[in-house]
Amino acid sequence: VFNFSAGPAVMPLPVLEEAQRDLVALPGVGSSVMELSHRGKTYMDIHADAKARLVSLLNVPDTHEVLFLQGGSRLQFSMIPMNLLKGTDKTADYVLTGSWGKKALEEAVKEGKTNVAWDGKPSNYNNLPSQSDLKLTSDAAYVHITSNETIQGVQFQSEPEVGNVPLVSDLSSDFLSRPVDVSKYGIIYACAQKNAGPAGVTVVIIRKDLMAHASSDLPGYMVYRNHAENDSMWNTPPTFGIYLLGLVCKWLQEEFGSLEKIQAQNEAKAQLLYDAIDQSGGFYTGHAVPEVRSKMNVTFKLGDDQSDKKFLAAANEIGLTQLGGHRSVGGVRASIYNAMPVEGVEKLRDFMLEFKK
Ligand code: PLP
Repeated sequence: VFNFSAGPAVMPLPVLEEAQRDLVALPGVGSSVMELSHRGKTYMDIHADAKARLVSLLNVPDTHEVLFLQGGSRLQFSMIPMNLLKGTDKTADYVLTGSWGKKALEEAVKEGKTNVAWDGKPSNYNNLPSQSDLKLTSDAAYVHITSNETIQGVQFQSEPEVGNVPLVSDLSSDFLSRPVDVSKYGIIYACAQKNAGPAGVTVVIIRKDLMAHASSDLPGYMVYRNHAENDSMWNTPPTFGIYLLGLVCKWLQEEFGSLEKIQAQNEAKAQLLYDAIDQSGGFYTGHAVPEVRSKMNVTFKLGDDQSDKKFLAAANEIGLTQLGGHRSVGGVRASIYNAMPVEGVEKLRDFMLEFKK
């Protein structure tokens, strides 16, 4: 089966095989990773190794801290304004390019003043703003963007210019799929369950100076500083998820060597599907305008709901699964994260051509 789920999503096979081999007992240790104290040396080494691999893959500079948290990206929708906005008289700018950006804003309004710097709603979130479209607040607390909108399939191709204001980006669905210049960001964050591991661990990479100001009445878990000062062990971390995240990073390093290499493969994979859409004479129509198309979530429709349903059922029968678009958009969504092999995308492309015939 080639599983095109938007998340939790397909994992690299070598990672699953290594985890399976070591599930009951790590060689030389005799216990499962799940059974190890997070204060013991064996787990601490696994934790440090996962972090070091992330730092290396993303070239994280010394100015930034890597945190392993829980609560998914949706908890970050709250933690970010709690730490950077609450208790200040500043405004946070939100750029709304799809469903997830809107949900991030819904949480931020509970914590302080916000401004919608751009909203793609009039064109049903099929496009991104140009620099001159953005209505940014001068001296904002931060500017929030969604690097890749998983539901609509639109992806920033480069960062907007925000001057000295911290740029905050939700990379949940394109984390580790391409290089990122971390130094340009105040915070990047991503839940793991698409490109980086299983659900349950969330990566936050935060500029250290931004952790200084959190108001003291926040619940302890919400304060980034607590996690940073305790190497993400303020409470018991999601140890098994962090172990798997480390294996995913090792797979990327050994199989590809760099994020530039996986990016090239991701672009080639996406191109196969977009070509099938563009060369279908209107049989398939893509949701996103071509310039902002996502390399991770390819969204398209056939003529009507009935045809979409027939397409999905026929695809499912030959082992191309979980291709249904998100309930809010409908149609078809092929999520082709790092771990989706080229053969899976080729099989889908061939099926698209055949189904059209
Ligand atoms: N942001 C984006 C871009 C997502 O795709 C998702 C989940 O699909 C989320 C946030 C929410 O993540 P979680 O369910 O881990 O809170």
